[in-house]
Amino acid sequence: METLIRLGFALGIFALMITWEVLSPRRTQSQHRQRRWSINLGLAAFNMLVMRVSIGSLAYLSAVNASEQSIGLLNLVAVPEWLAIIITLLFLDMAIYCQHIVSHRWSLLWRLHQVHHTDLVFDTTTAVCFHPLEIVISMGYKVLCITIIGANPWAVLAFEVLLNGAALFNHSNINLPLTVDKVIRTVLVTPDMHRIHHSTDAVEYNSNYGFCLSCWDKVFNTYNAEPKQPHTTMDIGLTPYRDPQALGFIALLLLPFKAVRR
Ligand SMILES: [Zn+2]
Repeated sequence: METLIRLGFALGIFALMITWEVLSPRRTQSQHRQRRWSINLGLAAFNMLVMRVSIGSLAYLSAVNASEQSIGLLNLVAVPEWLAIIITLLFLDMAIYCQHIVSHRWSLLWRLHQVHHTDLVFDTTTAVCFHPLEIVISMGYKVLCITIIGANPWAVLAFEVLLNGAALFNHSNINLPLTVDKVIRTVLVTPDMHRIHHSTDAVEYNSNYGFCLSCWDKVFNTYNAEPKQPHTTMDIGLTPYRDPQALGFIALLLLPFKAVRR
C-alpha cells in the first residue's frame, strides 16, 4: 500500500510535468529527447527495480519500527502528533539538504553524485537520473535520520511523496511566469532556482542545494538568486563531460569507478 501511494504520486506528477514541458517549455532543448530519455528513464527503471526488490520501503518501515520500539527523540518526548509531523518534515528536508552539500564536498560521494550532474539538459527526467549506489546510500542515511528523530511513519510517507514530487517539479523545463516563480520561491525550490545548481559554473553548482524547501539555502548562505548567463542559454552539466555520445547507460553506471575529471 505504502509503495503504491509513493509510486502513484510519482508517476502522476511525472506525467503532469512532462506534458507541461512539452506544451510550454522554458528552454529549447539542445539534445535529441529520445536518447536522453532512454538513458535517464533506463536509470530510473533500474533504480526502481533495485529499490523495489531490496530497500524501497525501508524509510517507512524504520519509522514504524522506531515508533513500536519507542526509539528516537519524538518517541521519547510527549509531543502532539501534528507537531511531530511538522518537526519530522522539516528535519528530514534539512537532512537531505545537508547530505547534498556533503555529496558535493566529499570526493567519494561526488563520484556517485556527479552522475546526476552529467546530464547536459535540464528537464524532469534529470530528477530520476541518479547512480543506484547513491540511492542505496541515501536510503541508509535516511533510515539513520528517521531513527534518530523517531519520525512519525505517516510523516515519512508524506515526506517521500513530497520529496519525489518536489524533485520532479524543480528539475522540470516548464515555463513558469517570473512573478509566480518569485512567490513559490519564498517557500519551495523552483525550476529556475534549481537550474542554477546544474550550471557548469563551479560557483553556481555549489549553490542552491535544497530539494524541497527553499529556506535552507537562505538560512545557511548557499542561496544564489540568478545565474551569470540567462536561464534560456546557460550551459548545463559538467565541463569535463560535454560529449553526450560518451555518456550512455553503461558509461554512467561505471563513471564513479573512473578517475574524477575536474
Ligand atoms: Zn548536486
